[in-house]
Amino acid sequence: MAAHDPALFDLIGQEAERQRHGLELIASENFTSAAVRAAQGSVLTNKYAEGYPGKRWYGGCEVVDQVELLAIARVKELFGAAWANVQPHSGSSANLAVYNALIEPGSVVLGMDLSHGGHLTHGNPVNFSGLRYQIVGYKVNPETERIDMEEVRRLAHEHRPRMIIAGASAYSRRLDFAAFREVADEVGAVLFADIAHIAGLIAAGLHPNPLPHAHVVASTTHKTLRGPRGGIILSNDPELGAKIDRAVFPGYQGGPLEHVIAAKAVAFGEALRPEFREYAAQVIRNAQALAAAFTERGYRVVSGGTDNHLFLLDLRPQGLNGTKATRRLDANHITISKSTLPYDTEKILHGGGIRLGTPAVTTRGMTEADMPKIADLIDRALKGEDVKAEVHGWMGGFSLP
Ligand code: PLP
Repeated sequence: MAAHDPALFDLIGQEAERQRHGLELIASENFTSAAVRAAQGSVLTNKYAEGYPGKRWYGGCEVVDQVELLAIARVKELFGAAWANVQPHSGSSANLAVYNALIEPGSVVLGMDLSHGGHLTHGNPVNFSGLRYQIVGYKVNPETERIDMEEVRRLAHEHRPRMIIAGASAYSRRLDFAAFREVADEVGAVLFADIAHIAGLIAAGLHPNPLPHAHVVASTTHKTLRGPRGGIILSNDPELGAKIDRAVFPGYQGGPLEHVIAAKAVAFGEALRPEFREYAAQVIRNAQALAAAFTERGYRVVSGGTDNHLFLLDLRPQGLNGTKATRRLDANHITISKSTLPYDTEKILHGGGIRLGTPAVTTRGMTEADMPKIADLIDRALKGEDVKAEVHGWMGGFSLP
C-alpha cells in the first residue's frame, strides 16, 4: 500500500494515529477486532451475489452463500430470532427496508421525538421517514426525563399509528418493549424496535431483548455490537421476514457486501463468547461511573444517570452549548458528539449539551477507576485549559485492537 498509493497510505496512518492518541467517547463508535477488519478487507469484496443464499442471480456464489448463512445462523443465535437478514448496508438502510415492507407511504408512525433522543430515520423532516410518512413524536416526561408509557399510549390512541418505533440514539434508560407491544396491540399497530445503539448490551443479556415483543427489530452492527459498519433486520415471524427480504433485495439494494457480511459474522461470533458479556457489563459500569464523576463535579446528567452505555450532559448551566463544547474538546483530541436535550432551550443546530458513551474506551481496557480522570480532563478542557498533551500521553498507555 505504501508503494502503491502513498497518499492514501499516509491518510490511513494519520487516522490510525488519531484513534490511538485520542480519547474516544462518541457513544456510537467502537474499535473492531483485527479479525473483523481482516474479513472486511478480504477477497470477498470481489464477488457479486444479488439475491439470497441458494437463490442468486450470479454464478460462483457457493462460498459466499456459506459466509452469509454463517452470519445469519450466528445472529439468530445471538438474539434468539427465528429469521434474519444481514444484507442492509447500514442502520438507515435497514430501517428503510422495514418502513417499505410494513407500511404504505402516508401512514402515521409514532416514534421518539428527535430532540428527545430519536434517530434521523424516525421522522426527521428532510429524511425519507419525515418526507414520506406522517410522524408523531413522543417526548420524555419533563420531570423524570424518561419515556412515559402512559403518554405513548395516549398519543397512540389519539393518532392511531400503523407503526410504533421503540428505539433511540440518545436515551440512557431501559426501553420497556413489552409495554410498547401492549400499546401497539391496543391500536393495531406494528411494533418496530430499533436497537442500533444497545444491540451489544442486548446480545450480552444486559438489556431486555425486544425479540419476544416486537414484530420487527433492526440494528446497526458497529456500535456496542463492535462489528463492521452495517445493518441487520431480525424477526420471529418468517412471513414478515420474507416481505422484508423482498424490500431489501430487489426492493432497494443490488449486490450485498459479502466482505462486510463476513465481518459481521466474525463480530457475531465474538459476541457469542463469554468475554463479550464481560465487555458489555464493563461498558455499563464505566458509563455509570463516568456519569457519577460528572455529577460530583457539579454537572447535570440528563435523567440523573444511565442504565446503558451513554448519557447526556446538560452544559447550559456552564454557559456552554453542544457546538462550543465540541470545539473545545476537539482541540484537545477528546471526541464526543453534541446533542439536543429534552425540552432544549438552545437552537437545534447547537444543542444544549453533549452525548458521551463508553463502548470505545472500554474496548481499550478502561475500567471504573479511569472514569474520574476522563471527567477531570473534560472538565478542564471545557474551562479552557489545554490538556491535549496529557490526553495523548495517557491514551498511549491503552491497547488498541
Ligand atoms: N437507528 C439508530 C437508533 C441510530 O442511532 C442510528 C445511527 O446513529 C441508525 C439507526 C442509523 O445507522 P447508520 O448510521 O448506519 O445509517
